[in-house]
Amino acid sequence: MQRYSGFGLVKHALSHHENWQRQWRNPTPKPAYDVIIVGGGGHGLATAYYLAKEFGITNVAVIEKGWLGGGNTARNTTIVRSNYLWDESAFLYEHAMKLWEGLSQDLNYNVMFSQRGVMNLGHTLQDMRDIQRRVNANRLNGIDSEVLDTAGVQKIVPIMDCSKNARYPVLGASWQPRAGVARHDAVAWGYARGADALGVDILQQTEVIGFKIRDGQIYGVHTNRGDIEAKTVGCVAAGNSGVLAGMAGFRLPLESHPLQALVSEPIKPVLDTVVMSNHVHGYVSQSDKGDLVIGAGIDGYNGYGQRGSYPTVEHTLQAIVEMFPIFSRVRMNRQWGGVVDTCPDACPILSKTPVKGLYFNCGWGTGGFKATPGSGHVFAASLAKGEMHPIAAPFSIDRFHSGALIDEHGAAGVAH
Ligand SMILES: Cc1cc2nc3c(=O)[nH]c(=O)nc-3n(C[C@H](O)[C@H](O)[C@H](O)COP(=O)(O)OP(=O)(O)OC[C@H]3O[C@@H](n4cnc5c(N)ncnc54)[C@H](O)[C@@H]3O)c2cc1C
Repeated sequence: MQRYSGFGLVKHALSHHENWQRQWRNPTPKPAYDVIIVGGGGHGLATAYYLAKEFGITNVAVIEKGWLGGGNTARNTTIVRSNYLWDESAFLYEHAMKLWEGLSQDLNYNVMFSQRGVMNLGHTLQDMRDIQRRVNANRLNGIDSEVLDTAGVQKIVPIMDCSKNARYPVLGASWQPRAGVARHDAVAWGYARGADALGVDILQQTEVIGFKIRDGQIYGVHTNRGDIEAKTVGCVAAGNSGVLAGMAGFRLPLESHPLQALVSEPIKPVLDTVVMSNHVHGYVSQSDKGDLVIGAGIDGYNGYGQRGSYPTVEHTLQAIVEMFPIFSRVRMNRQWGGVVDTCPDACPILSKTPVKGLYFNCGWGTGGFKATPGSGHVFAASLAKGEMHPIAAPFSIDRFHSGALIDEHGAAGVAH
């Protein structure tokens, strides 16, 4: 793999940057692999990378029906935090956070992880009680988390309307200083480049259209480019997970919904943190390019269209403008949607399935980007050892039979 460095940049400038290597190959599918990963989003690519890097399993294919990261990975608003309420989620997201903190160095690829802090506003007394409870739980789990009062919020975000007459009065917030944002494309590309260099085959424009199952054991997949065999298959297909489970003959407790986001025209730097409000259902940050990155909750109906409805956009912008009157004349540039797979307890599924050798990593809903390194890491360990990693184990589909649900609706909140 060609390593990136300041020196390399200068060297390639001499040849007008025309001799850079391709970041990953475009291989022809082999008839068989040790492991197949279905889905070339951040989670699938991270799984392949850690399988090769940490477990020496390099005979791996990542099968992607479109282009790398073209699913939710490239459509998300990139909020990264780990301040979840329950121990199980806190361990999972904090595991990811620790990997984020060294990811650019590990991948030799700048994923632009910016720890600018994430603030979650409280507008009612009950919001503030919930915030206090979650911050206490976070601290018990060693996660940096603070309660801010109104003055504390105003100090960090002077442009917010924190006046007493505001339509949504700001009573305080939870604040995680280590949280922030990262560059979504770079995460997919960095993992793809790292996995490819270790020997993983990344097969784009290849769609899984069925599974090869005999006597309850998986032994391969049918694709639009022919059959490929493997005794271990990990499905990491986000909003299409229910469709894939259907092909394998079982159902998952998932609903697929559109989730949308939008960005404004670029403006001068005015906001150097991430502000979320569960109560009014909106959140905003400012990207390095200067555009405001805005989102909200899911569109209420089920669907696979990668676009959202106008009422949700209208509601989101109303909420943002109430909190930030300064943004009222900013023009919006683009709006788009992704298809998110939501679980009844707002937690993911990392699990074995009724088919031996077939595993699913899904149900991340509206908040899985932040988990990308941790999810890939623990899923790779589970596939390599044939047993779910201890951090992943509580997220098994068995919880929907046993009742051991992990209700994160509060901390998932406006859902990022
Ligand atoms: C608008 C929006 C905003 C969001 N904001 C945030 C946020 O701020 N913070 C956060 O943490 N999370 C956020 N999320 C959620 C986050 O994007 C996802 O949870 C995460 O990216 C999921 O990653 P993934 O790799 O599992 O899925 P994806 O990136 O969707 O990858 C799945 C891949 O599987 C492929 N695939 C599907 N079916 C098949 C098949 N049959 N054969 C082959 N390939 C197949 C798809 O083409 C896709 O590329 C947001 C999501 C959206 C839509």
